[in-house]
Amino acid sequence: MEKVVIMGTGCAGLTAALYTARAGLSPLVLTGTLPGGLLTTTSIVENFPGFPEGIDGCELMSRMQKQAERFGARVRFGTVEAVHLSERPFRLTVDDEQVETRTIIIASGASHRHLGLESESLLERKGVTYCATCDGALPMFRNQPLVVVGGGDSACEEAIFLSRFGSVIHLVHRRDTLRASKIMAGRTLSNPKIKPVWDSVTTEILDVKQDKVIGVRVKNLKTGKESVIDCAGVFVAIGHVPNTELFRGALEMDENGYIVPKHGMESNLPGIFVAGDCSDHVYRQAVTAAGMGCAAAIDAERYLARLNQ
Ligand SMILES: Cc1cc2nc3c(=O)[nH]c(=O)nc-3n(C[C@H](O)[C@H](O)[C@H](O)COP(=O)(O)OP(=O)(O)OC[C@H]3O[C@@H](n4cnc5c(N)ncnc54)[C@H](O)[C@@H]3O)c2cc1C
Repeated sequence: MEKVVIMGTGCAGLTAALYTARAGLSPLVLTGTLPGGLLTTTSIVENFPGFPEGIDGCELMSRMQKQAERFGARVRFGTVEAVHLSERPFRLTVDDEQVETRTIIIASGASHRHLGLESESLLERKGVTYCATCDGALPMFRNQPLVVVGGGDSACEEAIFLSRFGSVIHLVHRRDTLRASKIMAGRTLSNPKIKPVWDSVTTEILDVKQDKVIGVRVKNLKTGKESVIDCAGVFVAIGHVPNTELFRGALEMDENGYIVPKHGMESNLPGIFVAGDCSDHVYRQAVTAAGMGCAAAIDAERYLARLNQ
């Protein structure tokens, strides 16, 4: 039987692996379908402390894995497909195999909502991005016209953040008012660099042939008219979906499915801990996910120590 199973090998999961491994718990760490997590989908990470020149996302995650393995973490390619939490030990179905464990650290991350356009996926990392805090300061976006898609708080935050770097920020929203909170909407609309494009949806990102973003085609839903907005970057901010579906009904979550920790990083079910983007809809950064992974590991270790008393 396992003492600790960690679901996920992003920053949260691998940091939890490092701490539980150094505590002598020999954690089993399951990769899911994205070994290394979301950072492996980006090139340069410039805001993870300790790397003044920046570091390639894959390289950073590979180093985190090696560091955890050095102390005895066992990283295994596998996806948790079902969880059985009503009895102790907990039981997980991992690729048709049963795994029993005394504790679980859920570090399964969150997925970005996509627009669902073919041009969007073809131009991802070539000007299409899902995180202004992560990518907004990159040279390719500086002093360039940019597009943010969305109308909620996140889209407004992204647009305001980007107004420091871009020459003009076109905020494309499908309605004629922002969904964001009043204060955020007010701040956004009074920013002289942000130009709302109301009642409009993005129908295509240009230009796949040139293999880089040069603009977006938008359609006005009221008039049906199509037009092109020139830009160097498209920031899609239409929300995230936490990867927590397996725990629905068993663990306390907010209305969007983010797991709500109760004591430290422990969920409402003793022995189950959470870390990273699957429980954080506010910060969503590598370093905050790593911090939560550390906290969850320390909480799990103390929980196990109490059981043995
Ligand atoms: C393009 C891009 C660029 C970014 N750039 C930066 C940046 O420069 N700086 C920064 O701080 N942040 C950046 N971020 C945000 C950062 O990547 C995330 O905040 C961070 O990866 C969250 O870590 P996490 O461990 O919570 O989740 P994730 O990295 O999403 O990892 C989740 C892990 O859980 C696994 N998993 C999911 N379901 C299961 C399952 N059922 N069973 C087993 N495993 C499962 C996945 O396979 C994955 O390994 C960027 C994000 C993106 C998308």
